[in-house]
Amino acid sequence: MRALKFRGAWDVAIEDVPELHAEGPDDVVVDIAYTGICGTDLGVVSGSYPVAVPGTTLGHESTGVVAEIGPEVTGVAVGDRVVINPTPYCGTCRMCRTQRINHCVNKHGTESGISYDGTYADRYRTTSAFVHRLPDHTTLRAAALTEPLTCVLSGVRKIQPPSLSAYTYVFGAGPLGLLYTWALTLKGLSPVVVETAPARLEFAKRVLPEGVTAHASLEEARRDHFGDERAPLDVVVDTTSGLLERLYTELACGGAYMSIGLKSKQVTIDAMHIADRSLSIIGSIDSLHGSFDEAYHLVTTGRIPVDRLISHVVPLEEYKEGFATLGCDIDGRTLGGATTESCKVLIASAPPAGER
Ligand SMILES: [Zn+2]
Ligand SMILES: [Zn+2]
Repeated sequence: MRALKFRGAWDVAIEDVPELHAEGPDDVVVDIAYTGICGTDLGVVSGSYPVAVPGTTLGHESTGVVAEIGPEVTGVAVGDRVVINPTPYCGTCRMCRTQRINHCVNKHGTESGISYDGTYADRYRTTSAFVHRLPDHTTLRAAALTEPLTCVLSGVRKIQPPSLSAYTYVFGAGPLGLLYTWALTLKGLSPVVVETAPARLEFAKRVLPEGVTAHASLEEARRDHFGDERAPLDVVVDTTSGLLERLYTELACGGAYMSIGLKSKQVTIDAMHIADRSLSIIGSIDSLHGSFDEAYHLVTTGRIPVDRLISHVVPLEEYKEGFATLGCDIDGRTLGGATTESCKVLIASAPPAGER
């Protein structure tokens, strides 16, 4: 079977590897249909998120069809359409028992597709707790956004806005920025989106919740959306990694700043301000207890129309084009901004005939 292997920075390739089969009693083997390209993948491939284990099959935002199960599996059957939770946790270590499964100490790394073999492949092997059967009306394409949404919902849980009227900003209109925008809207907030890349901005404007506006700069958002050039920053979600130092001085007292980008950046902020102005500087990654189920609920009920965020679908063998769409030129070894109108790009491994 095919698997897209990470060998080192800028060194990835599709390799022919032995086909996966159910070996343990609780194993579930999935024929992969779709895997979303995550910003993390761009960081891994470009070497800017140096946590991936060389030799690992990349890919973690995935759906497919159950191909084989172990003898003790009862929750899913061969032929079931499923969404995969790629983030293992043991459920028994101290971090798991204290509601922090995303930092389970027994998982030896981060998640499938980074520390363990992932889903840019024809098959993937996991255990029964990490697959969720999809209802017929939910497409395998849409459900590939369940994993990024669970990360978003984990972050949204940690944001405690001072009021539902809080001035709320989402910086970056990539998939995570747009999913944050949708999730914050469901939470009752009214976010505005700021995106400096023109192509991203144009795509975002077509897929935002009703009443939400997107702008090319903070200044434009303040002026055009709030009608106030000094509109306060009550709640900020920064998906870019790059804005904390600049924006924290402008946070309103009691404001919250959520940083979820995975680009390394050293910043200097004044600890006195954090106390004196009651600021919350928050980070978030991966799933918390129950957030995968929340994401599954919001995707399968259509409360968040995640399929609108899918801009491109490319076959596995054309993965370089998929990455290039997001500004990652693997052969040229450059990572820049997306220059075409794009959002979530899916890699198609072997989608069933009815869902291509
Ligand atoms: Zn991801
Ligand atoms: Zn654990």
